[in-house]
Amino acid sequence: MGRARAADLPSRLEAAQAAGRTQHSRHGEATYVRITEDGGDLRRGEVVLTGGGTPRLVPSFPSIARVVALEAGARAHAQAPLRVEEKIDGYNVRIVRWQGEVLAFTRGGFACPFTLDRLSDLADLEELFEEAPDAVLCAEIAGPGNPYMTAQARPYTDDVALFAFDLMALDDHGPRHLRELDALCARYEVPRAPQLLRMPVYDEGSGAALATLALDLDARGAEGMILKPERGGLRLKYVTPAVNLADIAADGWLLAELPGGFFTSRMLRFLIGARELGARERMRAFEITLGRQLAAGLARSLEQVQRDGKVYEDVAIRVRDPETVNQLVAHLNRSSRVVKCQVVTRAREGVYTRAVIRKQMMRSTSYLKSLLGGDTIID
Ligand code: ATP
Repeated sequence: MGRARAADLPSRLEAAQAAGRTQHSRHGEATYVRITEDGGDLRRGEVVLTGGGTPRLVPSFPSIARVVALEAGARAHAQAPLRVEEKIDGYNVRIVRWQGEVLAFTRGGFACPFTLDRLSDLADLEELFEEAPDAVLCAEIAGPGNPYMTAQARPYTDDVALFAFDLMALDDHGPRHLRELDALCARYEVPRAPQLLRMPVYDEGSGAALATLALDLDARGAEGMILKPERGGLRLKYVTPAVNLADIAADGWLLAELPGGFFTSRMLRFLIGARELGARERMRAFEITLGRQLAAGLARSLEQVQRDGKVYEDVAIRVRDPETVNQLVAHLNRSSRVVKCQVVTRAREGVYTRAVIRKQMMRSTSYLKSLLGGDTIID
């Protein structure tokens, strides 16, 4: 955002408030406003930091274009010099410091209580924000104990971990030059998403190099790669065939919950990727795995409805402050209308509290219940 747009942030915020597109919150001393819907010049997921004189904008994290056919997509769109980074399978946070408080916002613009609770275990960001008070550090939080997802690509450790992948700035849209992030991360020992390749030029050998890398990532169970032009420009994301298949299998139990497009798009991505990478001989094994997992997934949901009256999954988390468990459940319930969460167990373990949170899938629960209960449908 240019200076002129930053200057009129108060009036844009006022317009968003008048239109009912805002939600006010606070954390400690810091107050902020979540933009709940696109409108005017503000987008859903953006956050306006308030209460400290001039309001400041935490920009939304930009979407990344997907390529499904890696070589063809990269040939058509890659802009050298190019960095290739590992795509980490977790959830996205934008971390800022405001009025002395460090805040971590999810893609939807919610301050994530889990991330804040665990941040001191994941990275020490105090000095980074001393040097760069306007920094918006973009990172993926991934690993076992991630409260947002149970199935994930390659786990890195036995706990959640932070992987910084971009730097943005308050009041300014789009990522900064990666060298700025490199310097800050190196100076303050902030963990980075692994850097896989650097391509000073994109030539005849580059496509093959990317395909070799994709095969390696596929074999290691990593999620994929992100191609980032060093001088700015279109970024590309690519997910490996193995992860597309794993996603379908892991979410098979949600067949009645998710739109059909979720499964077909991943199936197509998987097939195009597997053919491109020469994995056709694995197709038979893939077909069997896929069929089994989908059938087993749905059977599991039906069993749950018959046994427990609902479709659900349990996620296990570990936090420092016992109160975080309640805050997290409230946050998860606020951020979704179709998933209802509650705490099932909690136990103290040294300085941590371990808790199991049950996520009930409302749509599949009522749909499967009605089918099993003998309701009629017109189709
Ligand atoms: P999109 O808005 O791009 O469609 P999405 O929420 O559907 O995003 P994905 O399709 O998984 O998410 O891919 C984009 C996300 O990948 C980014 O928002 C970011 O959270 C995550 N990511 C993981 N590793 C990296 C990385 N090295 N560089 C950039 N983003 C990364």
